[in-house]
Amino acid sequence: LYLKALEVQGFKSFPDKTVLSFGEDITAIVGPNGSGKSNISDAIRWVMGEQSTRALRGGKMEDVIFGGTAKRKQLGFAEVSLVLDNTEHIFPNMDESEVMVTRRYYRSGESEYYINRRSVRLKDVNELFMDTGLGREGYSIIGQGKIDEILSVKSADRREVFEEAAGISRYRHRKEEAERKLERTEENLTRINDKIDELE
Ligand code: ATP
Repeated sequence: LYLKALEVQGFKSFPDKTVLSFGEDITAIVGPNGSGKSNISDAIRWVMGEQSTRALRGGKMEDVIFGGTAKRKQLGFAEVSLVLDNTEHIFPNMDESEVMVTRRYYRSGESEYYINRRSVRLKDVNELFMDTGLGREGYSIIGQGKIDEILSVKSADRREVFEEAAGISRYRHRKEEAERKLERTEENLTRINDKIDELE
C-alpha cells in the first residue's frame, strides 16, 4: 500500500498547512530531537482513526491541536489528510485511483471524517482500512516498544495481528457486530414476551 502524501494543518507542532509527498521508495524523516518527527507518525495514526490519546502521546484529544507558542496563538482545530494510491484497487469498494482520508477535530470536541471529501463516520474509516494492514489495529506502524509488545502479549492478541495480515479481521468484526445485534434483539424479544405475559 503506497502512501502518496500527508497534509497536516493545525496538528501538534504544525500550525501551517504542511504537505509531505512521499516517493515510491523509502522515505526517512530526520531532524533534531523535538523537531516533530514523531508528530508525523502520530498524524498518520490519527487520520486513520486512532482514538487512544495515549497512543498519540497526549492526555486528551485536544492535545493534537496546535497549542500555541510564545509567538503564535493556539489554533481552533486540527486537520490531517492522507492520500493513498488505489490504482491496484487495494480498497476494493472504491473506484477512484486515489483515496484521500481526512480527519478534523475542533477544540469544542467536534470530530469530522471524510473519504474523498465525502463526509463519513469513523466506522467507515475503520472499515476502509480493515484488512489492508493499515489502520488503527494494523501492524504497519511499529512504534517504539511495539516489537516487545508483539512478543509478549497474550496469544489471543497476537492472533489479531495475524488475522489483520491475513485479511480476515473485517469478517471477525462484522461477526461480532452481528452477534451484538442478535443479543439486543433477543433481549427485546424477552421484554416483549414479558409484556405479553403481563397482558394475558
Ligand atoms: P525525538 O527525536 O526527541 O523523539 P521528535 O522529532 O520525534 O523528537 P516530536 O515528539 O514529534 O519530536 O515533537 C515534539 C514537539 O512537538 C515538542 O516541541 C512539542 O512542544 C511539540 N508539540 C506537541 N504537541 C503540540 C501541540 N499540541 N501544539 C504545539 N506544539 C506541540
